[in-house]
Amino acid sequence: MKTLLPTSTAGSLPKPSWLAEPETLWSPWKMQGQQLTDGKQDALRLTLQEQSVAGIDIVGDGEQTRQHFVTTFIEHLSGVDFENRKSVKIRDRYQASVPTVIGPVSRPKPVFVEDAQFLRKQTDQPIKWALPGPMTMIDTLYDDHYKSREKLAWEFAKILNQEAKELEAAGVDIIQFDEPAFNVFFDDVNDWGIACLERAIEGLKCETAVHICYGYGIKANTDWKKTLGAEWRQYEAILPKLQQSNINIISLECHNSHVPIELLELVRGKKVMVGAIDVANSAIETPEEVAETLRKALKFVDADKLYPCTNCGMAPLPRQIAREKLAALSAGAEIVRNELK
Ligand SMILES: [Zn+2]
Repeated sequence: MKTLLPTSTAGSLPKPSWLAEPETLWSPWKMQGQQLTDGKQDALRLTLQEQSVAGIDIVGDGEQTRQHFVTTFIEHLSGVDFENRKSVKIRDRYQASVPTVIGPVSRPKPVFVEDAQFLRKQTDQPIKWALPGPMTMIDTLYDDHYKSREKLAWEFAKILNQEAKELEAAGVDIIQFDEPAFNVFFDDVNDWGIACLERAIEGLKCETAVHICYGYGIKANTDWKKTLGAEWRQYEAILPKLQQSNINIISLECHNSHVPIELLELVRGKKVMVGAIDVANSAIETPEEVAETLRKALKFVDADKLYPCTNCGMAPLPRQIAREKLAALSAGAEIVRNELK
């Protein structure tokens, strides 16, 4: 990366209201067929333009072509029955009606590769593409076939590796795996979660990232956060092993969260996407607030390895707020870049 402190987003950005109901997760599409395909591409162009105007260095698709960061990927796999739904507790936090694994899982055809090719054609900037991580995928399903969380995770890791290799061939510069489940199931993370991620990135030459956060600003998450106490030390349980892994970049939530910033020391040597924008409230950070978060992080992350980012995706936020938050991220990064000269 040529720019110092290159900015990016964690992934999702709000969709235009003509494409899907705004400020809603799992929002149904407002179009169908070819119109929907065209609409998604237009939304992708818009989100890219908004990121460029805001001065974001590593751009993405804003997840405009997917309804949900986990579900949409799983919908494209065979072995999962979306009609046959069971109620499970997601991330030990909230009940949700989820599809059932009824047979061996496989990927009959690429999921996001055409979208990534389309994005690649629209920009010369570095692009990042997010995929769900294996552990977060199994946590969003009822498994009636493998009857083992670990076995199913290894199967998903293989499938993710196929998709990731094709995304790399499409010109994606950074492939990111979203693993909010890493913040919950520490023993599994250390026993096989990180190993599964390494399986998912096997043979890749592009950069790879894992995003571990405290989730969108939805009620189930904010209620959960209230139970975590004054200091959130979840990262402490998983960062030492991630530091030893061959994942290149770790994306973490830092601004306004109760994560003690010194925990970043545990991944010293890795590149870190430092969350400097809170996605769980609508107040726009000032550039100075962003700069202050980055300065704190710089005590534990070398400047050439620090990537200013958002805490999580911004899909549930109003568009104007997301735009202003992105602009604040860029402006804050610029303040610190100037200080480093
Ligand atoms: Zn997140």
